[in-house]
Order: sequence, then structure tokens, then C-alpha cells
Amino acid sequence: MYYYYGLAARLRQKFGERVQKVPLDAGFSCPNRDGKISANGCIFCNPEGSGSGMLSEGIPLSEQWNLWIEKISKRYSARLFLAYLQSYSNTYGPLEKLKSVLDEISQLEGIAGLCLGTRPDCVDADKLKAIKDTGLSEIWLDLGLQSSNDETLKKINRGHDSAAFAKSVELAHSHGLEVCAHVIAGLPGEDEEDFIKSVRFINTLPVSGIKFHNLYVCKNTTLEKMYRAGSYEPWTRERYVQAFVRAITFLRQDIVVHRISADPVPGELVSPDWSEDKRTTHLAINENMEKNDLWQGCALKGSRSQPPDWFWPESFPPKMIINKTGF
Ligand code: SF4
Repeated sequence: MYYYYGLAARLRQKFGERVQKVPLDAGFSCPNRDGKISANGCIFCNPEGSGSGMLSEGIPLSEQWNLWIEKISKRYSARLFLAYLQSYSNTYGPLEKLKSVLDEISQLEGIAGLCLGTRPDCVDADKLKAIKDTGLSEIWLDLGLQSSNDETLKKINRGHDSAAFAKSVELAHSHGLEVCAHVIAGLPGEDEEDFIKSVRFINTLPVSGIKFHNLYVCKNTTLEKMYRAGSYEPWTRERYVQAFVRAITFLRQDIVVHRISADPVPGELVSPDWSEDKRTTHLAINENMEKNDLWQGCALKGSRSQPPDWFWPESFPPKMIINKTGF
């Protein structure tokens, strides 16, 4: 059985085969880094680790695409791919730049869709329309919330509040785009209840996807200074697993789970070591959910006795099941 509605399962349902993400660097920046909002960035953001830097090395998008596909094809037998603009704020800057990037992306060979990450304060109607106008059948707008608590958002120097997030979700939804919200567990000053509150806040919005992250400390960040000064202590794996499992039982069952934990890029991690071992974390989550007979949304009123369709492997054609987690 599936314990949550994973992105891989949703893509297999829709396309009938494996669809693989391909990271692309389109050379965007971030207003929380370049001085427009702040020059310091979010306290956990490692500017060095955020992107592949391929574009600044002079590698155009089409070449990046081919390089990644060659690499990915050696590992997985995929024919369809999602372009993944993950780093920085990929709608920041002039509309014409975004349009030109989208135009190039929609012509890539084997493209099945797009995941585009940005900040809530970097979207407007024209940019959302341009994204929708690519005509790709699978489009995800990844928007960082991190926490629904405005005090926490100030503390981590996000540069926007939860109302700005809600407004941009509504706007994206009104343009026919699916939004994937990002939340972080273990933010300074927050506990499990705050994490669950953020999930409940997301439930109230027209959000279609979610990425769960565990906070880890990267080199050269404000968070590293806090960690070294003893004012921030990362969560243990056990604490994250417990918190995640509780939180996902409150998540709406139609929300697609894109990620259940985060892991650092090589060389950027300060602490905790366990965040580098994603597999063990995922196994611990699944064991916990199996042992306690839990699934996504089961704590929501009226859901406990009715597991959703995606819970049962029989509801997917056999070739669609790759493993228990759906990832
Ligand atoms: S919005 Fe993203 S890229 Fe910008 S500072 Fe925060 S984490 Fe870094």
C-alpha cells in the first residue's frame, strides 16, 4: 500500500510510465539575496549550494538538458521528463526573460512538463499566464511558505508573510496552475505543533502539492552562526520522523506529496549528519506509518475509516507500482 500520495505515483497514473525530473539552471537570481528585499537571504540558504551554476558556466538550457538526460538514462529507463527549475526565484526579473526561458524549455525533446520554483512575491498575472501558455500538460509552481507563523518567517528572514503566500496561491490557482507548497520542520523556535499548523494552513488553500523539508545547517549561512553560537540545535532523525508522520496524517488526501525529506548537496552540510542519508529516513517514516496503521489525511474528520484510492495498490495498473512509497 501507499501511505501517501506521491508524485511518482501521480505521474505514472497520468502518463502511464515513469517520468523523471531534470534539473535546469536558467540563471535567475533572488530578491532576498540581491539587495532588493535583503542581501542576506533566508537564514538557511546557501547561495553556493543552491544551483548547479551551469548557465553561468556558459552551458545553454538545451545542452544542460541533454547532459542530464544522458546521465539519468544510464540509471533509469525513462522517456519522459519534467524540466525542473529549482534554484533561486525563477520568475524574478523581466517578463521577457521568463518568456524566453519558457519558450526554450517547451521545445526540449521528451518534455512532459515543468516544475518551476519561485517566491510568492515574485509572481504576477502576466508571469503566471506566460507559464500556463507553455501548454505543457503537467505544470507545478513551487512556492516556498516554510512556516505559516509570521513570527518565524521574520526570524528566518523570508521577506514575506503567510498572507503573501496565500495571495499568490490564489492567483496561481485562478490561472489554472497547480501549486506545490514547501514547508520546513525544525525551524528556530518551532516545535511539532507549529509544523502541523503549517500543514493545516496549506489545507485551507487551493494547493495541489507539498514538499516537506527537515531543516539542516549549511556552511556559510546565518543558521551556521546560530548553530556554532549554540542558539540553534537541529532536530534528530527520530524527532523529524515523528513530526512528519503526525503532520501528514493531517494533510488533505488530494495533495500530492513531492518530497518527504530534504538532503544537502555534497560538501555543504554542517549538521546533522543523518540528513545526508535520505533512504534511512524514508524507511523509518514508512515503518512508523505501517506499524501505527496511518496514512495521509487519516486524522482528518471523516477520513479514518475510508482510505483513499491511491492507498490501495490494486487501484493502479501493476506496471505503475515501483515500490511501497511511490517514490
Ligand atoms: S528565497 Fe530561496 S534563493 Fe532566496 S534567499 Fe530564500 S532560500 Fe535562498
